[in-house]
Parts: sequence; C-alpha cells; structure tokens
Amino acid sequence: MLKSLTGFLLDPVRNLARACAPSGLLGRAISNGVDLVFPSFCQGCAVEGIYLCLPCQNAIESPIHRCLRCGKNSPLGQVHAECADSKTALSGLMVAAEYRQDAVRDLIWQLKYNSVADISATLALLMADFFIKNDLVEYFSGSLVVPVPMHKRRQRMRGFNQADLIGSALAKKMNMQFRPALQKIKNTTRQVDLEKDQRLSNVAGAFALAQPINAQLFAGRKILLVDDVATTGATLNECALALQDLSPAEIWGLVVARN
Ligand SMILES: [Zn+2]
Ligand SMILES: [Zn+2]
Repeated sequence: MLKSLTGFLLDPVRNLARACAPSGLLGRAISNGVDLVFPSFCQGCAVEGIYLCLPCQNAIESPIHRCLRCGKNSPLGQVHAECADSKTALSGLMVAAEYRQDAVRDLIWQLKYNSVADISATLALLMADFFIKNDLVEYFSGSLVVPVPMHKRRQRMRGFNQADLIGSALAKKMNMQFRPALQKIKNTTRQVDLEKDQRLSNVAGAFALAQPINAQLFAGRKILLVDDVATTGATLNECALALQDLSPAEIWGLVVARN
C-alpha cells in the first residue's frame, strides 16, 4: 500500500522531469529536487537508476584529437615534436568524449552546477573506457593521477572540486595512485569568460606545488593531469609547468571533453 502510494505521489514528479527534459534529458531547473527523490537518470535516454546506461555509454565517441600547439590532427592529442617548445610542459592532451554529444555535455553540467557529485564516477568510467579502447592501459599503468586544483575560495563555495572527484574515481578504477600535488595560488577569472589570447596570461603563475610533497614519488613517473573540461589547454599546461619541478617522465592532460 505504502509502496503504491509513494509511486502514485512520485509519478507526477517523474513525468514533470521528463516533460522538462530538453531532447530527452533531465530538466535542469528541477533536477536538484528530483535528485533528492530519484538517485539517477541516464543523461542520454532518461532511463532510471543510472547516470549513463550501457547502450548510451557505448554510443559515446571520443573526438578527433589535435595538437595543443598547432591545432592540427595528432593521434591521442600528442604535441608534435616540431611544435613543442620550452613552454610546452604537456606531452599531449587526451580527450575521452565528444563534447558535442548531448549526454556528455549534460553529465558535465550536472556534476559542476547541480552538485551531483556521484556523476564523477560515470565521467571517470568514460576516461577508463577511452584507455581501454585505445590500448593505453599498459602504457599508463603505474601513472600518478593529479587533479587540476581549484582556488580554495571557489572550492569552498562549490563544496567540491570536480577534478578531484573524477581523478580519484579514475585512479580507483585504473588501480593508480591519486596525488593532489598542486595548489591554485591565484584566484583567476574563469577561462570560459575570456578571449583566447587572454587565457594564457590569466592562468600564468596560478599554480604551485602543494606542500608538503613527496618529490621522490614523482621522479621518472608518468603523470595524468585530470580535469573535467579543457578549451585551449592553457590551464593544464600551466599546471604541467609547475609539475615539471618534480622531474616526471611525462605529463599528459586527460579531460572528459574539450569544448
Ligand atoms: Zn541511456
Ligand atoms: Zn602541432
């Protein structure tokens, strides 16, 4: 009796969520409230009980990878040898999923602005999937996962750093060590609010090594620098410049999507 009554009461909420959902996605305006009642909806097809169902996950493609420096195609986003200069600290930027796919955009949006922190595990799954599909598991085994840090003040406002959540979930899935080795020492303007040529100076000198740090752990190891989204890659490269002091073997950027 109680079960059916609950079902009856919840149905309008469920239907409202579906009705408000643009192109089958959970309506954003009310999703906070709905999350309290329903743990999850697939962001691809709105099926209940999961943030991304297996068929929708399988439909997600990784984008064409480009060199950070020249913008031309490059396998796995590796910086071309002829494009690397002394200011390029990243070996490359890997992008797990195509940003133009609605489900990908929606998952990132939900994680960031609706504080659905559990979605981080789903986004980490997309990254792990990318490694498996591209036969990278062995190459990156034993890597250290470092999240792109957020300024303390901003993190206090949001309550969490999405890069921390995604990075630690990825490390767990891939059996890697999660090491928040960086701190953000400058509260910068959001990169998305700036023109391309302002983004570099905005983040310049914004990151430093977190203290205390076990520098020996990083020497000669590969680092996966994780964030949710990248645009020009300026933030990731700036983080990588700070990590270079630890003498790692390689530093790779890894993001869910590039917009
Ligand atoms: Zn689905
Ligand atoms: Zn290039």
